[in-house]
Amino acid sequence: MTTTPGQRAAADLAAVREQWGDLLAAIAEPPRRADWMPYERRGFLDQLAADDREGDEQALAEAAVGRLPLILREHPAPANLRALDAALDVEREVFDMCDAVAERVQLPTRDAHGRWTLGSDPSDPRLWHVPTYRDAGPTTLASTGSRLFGLHWAAVWLEGRALDDDPADRALFAPTPATLVDQIAEVARTARRRVEGALGREARTITLDDPCPFCRAGRIVVHNGGGNPRDAVATCSTGPACPAPVDVERGRRAWRGADLVALWVAISASRRTLD
Ligand SMILES: [Zn+2]
Repeated sequence: MTTTPGQRAAADLAAVREQWGDLLAAIAEPPRRADWMPYERRGFLDQLAADDREGDEQALAEAAVGRLPLILREHPAPANLRALDAALDVEREVFDMCDAVAERVQLPTRDAHGRWTLGSDPSDPRLWHVPTYRDAGPTTLASTGSRLFGLHWAAVWLEGRALDDDPADRALFAPTPATLVDQIAEVARTARRRVEGALGREARTITLDDPCPFCRAGRIVVHNGGGNPRDAVATCSTGPACPAPVDVERGRRAWRGADLVALWVAISASRRTLD
């Protein structure tokens, strides 16, 4: 299937906003160790471990979603600086891209007071408003414009300009030039990589320190599946001789899906035995 740069940009921006709440929540949590499990399963693992902090984490996650943009608020005692840096960078780059796109394609008109403004109706919620500054320069922000509504709204707006497929938009926007779509796609791709990297969701292959709990000899290699947990797989280096109760793939015992949880439980149990 071929995709246009606009479609790729929209998909990456959607991935950024869908994971934004997780990233904000991650800022308040210490970075996780041994997070080799595909991330969708971690909630289940947390329950297995009866982690008594889970209630607190849940509350923090809910409180963090939908708050003001990061640039407009304090960050008391962030526990995960990598997540905070990623969020600040992504927010700034997406906001700046929105400003640049609005300045290029949003149609200028006069407002009710005869002043040149962007868009035929400045209160139209489909328009992006760039920040405004007092005469003294950038240090004297007079209005944050559409940044006030946060990353999620900015990403939705930018998706619309990247796709540029709604005929009704012609009343407000000039067609987005292909070179500008390419720039949006690049910002979106980078933003997605930063968000997924900070959340440990980039595709990774890890060799665990623990030996295989079934044959006690093989090394366990985990591919986390990137953003797609259905692709996550762990294999034992021993080969078919390993007695693990899972199928053999390409000559190795392979754990997928719910079997990954069983593997995690078995590894945890053997760690406790060693202790
Ligand atoms: Zn094994």
